[in-house]
Amino acid sequence: MKFQLACGDVMPGCPTTFSESSRDALMSAVAGHAAQEHGITQITPEVAEAVSAQVRQVD
Ligand SMILES: [Zn+2]
Repeated sequence: MKFQLACGDVMPGCPTTFSESSRDALMSAVAGHAAQEHGITQITPEVAEAVSAQVRQVD
């Protein structure tokens, strides 16, 4: 099982993609990227919701 996310689905224009073996690992990778690349240092419930809505699970 892989958890995948294209940042561009949340942040239009961003080419970064993520692929992690757990949802927690994916969310922490996204959080680090969001802080570094998008200046988003607070993962609010709204941001977390927008991100998790775009997560794809691949067997
Ligand atoms: Zn991004």
